[in-house]
Amino acid sequence: MHDERIRRSVAGTNLGNNRDSTRQHNLSTVLGLVHSMDGVSRAQLTRATGLNRSTIAALVGELAQLGLVLESDLDQAQQHGRPSIMIEPSPGALALSVNPDIDVVSVALVSLGGHIVNPVRFHTVRPPSVAEVVNIVTAIYTGMRTSLPARHRIMGVGLAVPGLVDPVDGTVIEAPHLGWRDQPLAALLSDALKLPVIAANDAVVGARAQATFGAGRDVSDLVYLYGGASGIGGGVVSGGRLIRGATGFAGQLGHTHVRSGGAQCTCGSTGCLEAEVTREELIAAIGLPAGETENLEEAVLEKLQDESASQEVGAIIERQIQLLAIGLKSIVNLLNPSLIVLGGFLRILVRASPGTLSEALRTPGRRGPWENVAIELAPLGEDPILVGAAELAFEPLIRDPAGFLRPQDDDAGAPSQPM
Ligand SMILES: [Zn+2]
Repeated sequence: MHDERIRRSVAGTNLGNNRDSTRQHNLSTVLGLVHSMDGVSRAQLTRATGLNRSTIAALVGELAQLGLVLESDLDQAQQHGRPSIMIEPSPGALALSVNPDIDVVSVALVSLGGHIVNPVRFHTVRPPSVAEVVNIVTAIYTGMRTSLPARHRIMGVGLAVPGLVDPVDGTVIEAPHLGWRDQPLAALLSDALKLPVIAANDAVVGARAQATFGAGRDVSDLVYLYGGASGIGGGVVSGGRLIRGATGFAGQLGHTHVRSGGAQCTCGSTGCLEAEVTREELIAAIGLPAGETENLEEAVLEKLQDESASQEVGAIIERQIQLLAIGLKSIVNLLNPSLIVLGGFLRILVRASPGTLSEALRTPGRRGPWENVAIELAPLGEDPILVGAAELAFEPLIRDPAGFLRPQDDDAGAPSQPM
């Protein structure tokens, strides 16, 4: 199964054209596999790439010299034949992930392999301005730098924004819940941190993390929906590719229409999924104080156990589930995914009433795309978004590992050097 996954990651790549681009391509393939599998054996690399053992050894050696991988203990899983050396992503190869939202700015270092290192959540009493986000992130990053491993390299910054982001220059075109419009946040952060910054929509990067590392790693058609303080966002992987659309804005699943004459939405329309199914309604229903919203999921589930209070909360949840099902039904009809991953507060709706959502998605006695859709929960919190944001920063490194790390005369845009 392990090998099947690897073959799938390599499928479609064309190993071996001309010599220079072949070497770059092979380095990229090997690093990509070590990263997405979070460690593979040399034997698996040989089988997956079709390259011979000495070529794999040379490529791994070059990646190790670049500080990107470590060759470590023998593969314990190997039961037959000779044991094989494991190649692990280096913990010193890091990206900085940043995710501003209306009540918190989340910052974390993420190492190759998708490991979150020392995450920091900075709470704000009101939605932060762009200048405040730059100051907060700069202060946190400065603090983090004192505790980094001796041999490390920050490849860049991945910025996940709850809004529309220009895919070319990272300008936040609109983040309605934050009150931002046409804000060059990526450029300002890059100036402040002296690192390249790549920005994208938060739910889209979450979908990417799910497709690379999470429940969706073996799935080629997946829909990811994330419910946060700023509404509901989504990302779609179809045929193994993240759908971007003509101008990079595909996946605005929160604006799927679910109720005629429904609530006013920030997009100007009414009855959108994110206007009808909100985190705020759940917070208000259980009377959770501001600053404790991290515990929303457990607090809601606890409240449902309390008989005197559960009826009102239960009715709100039931209503939200039915509206979410209407939205998901459109999405399933449109995209025919095999897996739907729900993250953020949408997890609560599934946990509070297991089975209701998948039941509501089906039409009894009818066959169709909803028949075999699995529904899974993303890991708790912003982890998928932070891991997905790091993918933005790792992408140019993985595409051309040696080229990315080659010392440049012009320092602009180069990754930070080890301290
Ligand atoms: Zn809308």
